[in-house]
Amino acid sequence: MENLLQNLLSAEALAKNFDESRPSFNAQEALDEAHRCLYCYDAPCIKACPTGINIPSFIKKIASGNLKGSATTIMEANPVGASCSRVCPTEELCEGACVLNHVTKPIMIGDLQRFATDWSIKNEKVLFKAGEKNGKKIAIVGSGPAGLSSARELGLLGYDVTIFESKAEAGGLDTHGIVPFRLPKDISLWEVKQVADLGVKIHTNTEVGKDVSAADLMSDYDAVILAAGMSKVPMLGIEGEELSGIYDAIDLVEEAKNERYTTAFIGKRVAVIGAGNTAIDGATTAVRLGAENVKILYRRTEAEMSAYDFEYEFAKQEGVEFRWLVAPKRLIGDENGRIRQMECVRMKLQSAGSDGRARPVQIEGSEFLMDVDIVVKAIGQTRHQQLIDAFGLEHHGGVVKVDSETFLTSHPKVYAAGDVVFGKGIGEAMVVTAAQQGKETAYAVHQQLKETETAHV
Ligand code: SF4
Repeated sequence: MENLLQNLLSAEALAKNFDESRPSFNAQEALDEAHRCLYCYDAPCIKACPTGINIPSFIKKIASGNLKGSATTIMEANPVGASCSRVCPTEELCEGACVLNHVTKPIMIGDLQRFATDWSIKNEKVLFKAGEKNGKKIAIVGSGPAGLSSARELGLLGYDVTIFESKAEAGGLDTHGIVPFRLPKDISLWEVKQVADLGVKIHTNTEVGKDVSAADLMSDYDAVILAAGMSKVPMLGIEGEELSGIYDAIDLVEEAKNERYTTAFIGKRVAVIGAGNTAIDGATTAVRLGAENVKILYRRTEAEMSAYDFEYEFAKQEGVEFRWLVAPKRLIGDENGRIRQMECVRMKLQSAGSDGRARPVQIEGSEFLMDVDIVVKAIGQTRHQQLIDAFGLEHHGGVVKVDSETFLTSHPKVYAAGDVVFGKGIGEAMVVTAAQQGKETAYAVHQQLKETETAHV
C-alpha cells in the first residue's frame, strides 16, 4: 500500500495502479495444475457451472497442449468465458464443487480457463464460424453478457443479427462496469470481436428510443431481445446531495476502465454507500486513485451484504474499512460547496420484510458525524423504465416480466434476458448467469421461429 501511495503523483502515475492485479499461470503452472485434474466421470464441476462448460475436457486439452481446442470448449459453452475466468465467484461454483476439495485443494479452474482463453486472445484466434444464413432477422438491444451470448448463438444458427448499443464500445458490464485491475477492457472487446466475426452487426452509439424506435425494431425484425442491463445508481435521497464531491460508483469505474484517472481522490477520505459488488469496485477504485482512507457504509450487516466473499476479502486486503449498521443521513459542506462531513445514523435490524431480507431501522438519537471529502454512491441501480415502456412490456417495478423458460415478455415478438429480468423475476446478478440466459433466450427465439415457419407451410 505504501508503494501505491508513493506513486500517486499524477494521472499518468495512477494508471499503473489499474494494471491487472492477479498474475496469469505460466505454461508450466498451467500444465502442473491440469495434470492434477482427475477428469471425473459425471463431473460435479460441470453441473456447478451455470453455462455447463465441459471443464474436464478443456483441462485435458491444456494438458495435451491443444490450447485452441481448450479455448473453443470454454467459449462454445460460454460466449464470455474469458471474462468469466476473471470475475466468476468460482469458489461458489465450479471450484466449490470440485471433488478435490475433500482431499487437497480444488483445481484452479478459473485460472486454467484464463490461461486457455488468454492464449487465444494473444494469438488472435477466431474460434467460430457463422451458420448458413436462414433469412431471418433478429434485433438485440444491449451488448453485455446476455445480449452478446444471444447474438453469438443466433449467429451460429444462421440468423442475421443486429445489436443496438447505446455506448461507444460494446461489451456492457464487462467492458465498462468491472474494475480494470480485475477485468481489463481488452478481454471483453475480444469476446465482442468473436461475435462480430460471425457477421453480427453491432451499431454502437445507437440508443433505442432515440436513434431508432422500439416500434421500428418490432416491425422490421422477426424477433427482438431486450438485454439492456441496468441504468444509473439512484440518488441517496438525503440533504446535501447537491454538494460537490459525490460520485456514482458505476461512472467512477467506467472512467477508470477508459483510462481516465481523476486525481481528485488523492489523499482524500472517501465513504462508499452500499455493500454490493459495485460498492467494492467503487471502494477499491478509490484506493487505487490514491484515497487516504476508504470506508464502506452499509445499513445492514456483513451477513446481508450482497458482494461475493472473494470481493469482500479483496477489499479488506486493499485496506477498505467496513462500517456495518450505519446509514448516511445528511451531507455537510464547506463555504465552497464541497463535502466536509456526513451525518450518519446507527441502524438495527428487524424481522424480514416481504423480500425475505432483514429490515434496517434507525436507532433514534444515535446520529454522529463522520469527516469525509468524497462520497461514492453504490446503492443498486435503476431500471431502464423508458425503454421498457417504449416496447410496452409488462414489468414489476422495472423488472421485465418473462416466461421463466422461454424468456418471452408480454409482447409475442419481444424476449428479455440478463439484468433487465433480474430481481423480482428470475436469474441471478452474475455475468455467467446472464450469459446462460442469453443462450437460452436465443434457443427459445429459434424454437418459436421454427414453429411459426412450420405452421405457415
Ligand atoms: Fe477435475 Fe475437479 Fe472437475 Fe473432477 S471435479 S473433473 S477433479 S476439476
